[in-house]
Amino acid sequence: MEIKNIESNKLSFYRTNHRFKNYAEFSSIEEFEEYHQWAKKSNVDFYILGNGSNTLFGRKNIKTLVLKNNLSKAIRSISPERVEVTSSTLVIELLKYCYEKSLDSFYYLASVPATVGGALAMNAGRGKEHNLTIYDFVESVTFFDGDKIRTLKADEIDRSYRKTIFTGINNFLIMSAIFSFPHTQFNENPIAARREWSKKFQDYNSPNCGSVFKNSDPKIIQKLKGLKIGKTNFSSKTFNWINNYSENSLPILLLIKVAQFLHIINSRKIDLELIKVD
Ligand SMILES: Cc1cc2nc3c(=O)[nH]c(=O)nc-3n(C[C@H](O)[C@H](O)[C@H](O)COP(=O)(O)OP(=O)(O)OC[C@H]3O[C@@H](n4cnc5c(N)ncnc54)[C@H](O)[C@@H]3O)c2cc1C
Repeated sequence: MEIKNIESNKLSFYRTNHRFKNYAEFSSIEEFEEYHQWAKKSNVDFYILGNGSNTLFGRKNIKTLVLKNNLSKAIRSISPERVEVTSSTLVIELLKYCYEKSLDSFYYLASVPATVGGALAMNAGRGKEHNLTIYDFVESVTFFDGDKIRTLKADEIDRSYRKTIFTGINNFLIMSAIFSFPHTQFNENPIAARREWSKKFQDYNSPNCGSVFKNSDPKIIQKLKGLKIGKTNFSSKTFNWINNYSENSLPILLLIKVAQFLHIINSRKIDLELIKVD
């Protein structure tokens, strides 16, 4: 077991710089269990980090034990349409596999720099109006609950828009999942098509974590387009999207506060999609 004290701007896709007082990487369940026990004993929160594409670090000094998922990446074929995938595998790697094998899949996530574990924890998918998520193809998820390894079928996993029993701090570790992808035929490369779409409509000019809020009043968020604090701004191009050039996460937090304040004074509901870790 090795808990490190490191400084890094690589752990969140906002690329903000922080000192991580408690940082570790695990490559087996036994290692994860040791860190989990340490966190419990030391009364410290722990956070399972996938690729950091939905993670907002708050303070300059992060006290939470940040546990980077370094389990080995693997896509194992069970039958032509069924695969078992480990949680550290990148979503894009799985989509490339599906495309090569002519399998239908969640190709709308081709522009998302997520791990399979992060996507399952977040119930990643298309916008609310489409009602499509990664779980449309999930048979079961295997996870470690801090005590034992368990498997739940997709319909046994409580979830709502961008939320599951795995979302957030002090949670269960997703180890792998079994997916079922029906055979299909393509008229075009769905990965390239999605990437074209996202280049056109999404703002990749600077570090970002995609959508900021999972529930909000569109009229209020629309008005915030272009609002800038220091080197950080609500994108003028993409709705509900913050672009960040600052090493410090304070401007991101302030922009979020402005949006929350406007919702409160207008009696509107707002919920953060990003996971904030301190
Ligand atoms: C350019 C861009 C576009 C995006 N577009 C979309 C989109 O179209 N749809 C969408 O839904 N999201 C989108 N996102 C947001 C983000 O990519 C997703 O939320 C993604 O699922 C996060 O995956 P991650 O591996 O980076 O997770 P992280 O940010 O590392 O973690 C997110 C959550 O997952 C948990 N987690 C991670 N791994 C595990 C594990 N193995 N076991 C248990 N919990 C775990 C973390 O603890 C945390 O609660 C976008 C982000 C970016 C940067």
